[in-house]
Amino acid sequence: MSTNATVEKIVSLCKRRGFVFQSSEIYGGIGGFWDYGPLGVELKNNIKRAWWKAVVQERDDMVGLDAAIVMNPTVWKASGHLDTFADPMVDCKECKHRFRADELAHGVPASAHGHAAEAPVVRCPECGGELTEARMFNLMFRTFVGPVEDDASVAYLRPETAQGMFVNFSNVLQTTRRKLPFGMAQIGKAFRNEITPGNFIFRDREFEQMEIEYFVKPGTDEEWHQHWVEERHRWYLNLGLSPERLRVRRLDREELAHYAKDTYEVEYLFPMGWSELEGIANRTDFDLGRHAESSGRELEYFDEETGEHVVPYVIEPSSGVDRLFMAFLMDAYDEEEVRGETRAILRLHKNLAPTKVAVLPLSRNEKLVPPGREVWALLRPHWMTQFDDAQSIGRRYRRQDEVGTPYCVTIDFDTLTDQAVTIRERDSMEQVRVPIANLVSALREKLEG
Ligand SMILES: [Zn+2]
Repeated sequence: MSTNATVEKIVSLCKRRGFVFQSSEIYGGIGGFWDYGPLGVELKNNIKRAWWKAVVQERDDMVGLDAAIVMNPTVWKASGHLDTFADPMVDCKECKHRFRADELAHGVPASAHGHAAEAPVVRCPECGGELTEARMFNLMFRTFVGPVEDDASVAYLRPETAQGMFVNFSNVLQTTRRKLPFGMAQIGKAFRNEITPGNFIFRDREFEQMEIEYFVKPGTDEEWHQHWVEERHRWYLNLGLSPERLRVRRLDREELAHYAKDTYEVEYLFPMGWSELEGIANRTDFDLGRHAESSGRELEYFDEETGEHVVPYVIEPSSGVDRLFMAFLMDAYDEEEVRGETRAILRLHKNLAPTKVAVLPLSRNEKLVPPGREVWALLRPHWMTQFDDAQSIGRRYRRQDEVGTPYCVTIDFDTLTDQAVTIRERDSMEQVRVPIANLVSALREKLEG
């Protein structure tokens, strides 16, 4: 990330160019919910695709899953979420504002949920009024299943995707006939009724997770934990995040969640400080053990070598798509002087760029637009593309630079005679002339080579 990137600039870029909009904006919005626009959905899909390719497609020990958002509520009893997935909350007796007690006490956001409430030591930051005692506030969204709204029909929107994988452990084991170690990967929406959402899309109430549950023989868990910490750290570096803004931090004992034996975080240096992109936890046999006890079903693995039944340990790399989205945008954003003008540019990795190629006739001249549209049609089956013929060519290059498009293809008057076009590269602004007949293979070499 250049020093030019601020949260304000990224929020403005996201809105102006159609990456992220406030949810239901025409009605005043709703806190902690965001909509991804035409470019945003492409970037988000590309992040998810890059993750799936690395953790499922390219590995021989991983399979995918897509579990339902609403599950039998007993799942949340067994997982501990009903009892402990809560933040301490205080209300101002004067202005009725609501705050997280741990944030008021420390002046910084707490990194883990489920800690006991601390007595508030300060007064209302809004009006100086007196605060109530702290009460625990469960972060799960409640709903009702079926036509009757009573206690028997209460259900929850999942606060994490992980539990869908634990409760399907036996289904996946039997249908895929896997041996330990093996893992499941899942991408999906999760919901947390955060008391104080904020920092743009960093802390949302509706968000998307990419989670892995990797099942191993007890005793090999620490080794596999290290394996996943290294794998996941490398993934961010491979997609171009600045090494000096990325770190792996081992959590202190008092920071660990109730189910974790050990946890590492991959953190990114945002303008608001080092913040978690991904947690990689050793969850031991906590989850399978709890679900086995609660459901009465055996969630075990038969080890043919030793002839014993074991409850596997679990390594869980868990990341949030929305905060990765924000990190990749902030890291890619740069401004530089080009011929006396400031050029804003997103130096996104080409695999992440929302649009791979923009097709730009030199002008709206009637001789240039038809061959421009023909070139556009030639490229559309292969990549996400844009066609733009409005305003000067210089301004159109800038527009594509600002949204991270790696290549622009320009059709000019020479094209009419030599059947060739110019490919212009985003970062270096270098141009090469390529025959239209070779354009797809030339771009393939650049984008995928
Ligand atoms: Zn107040």
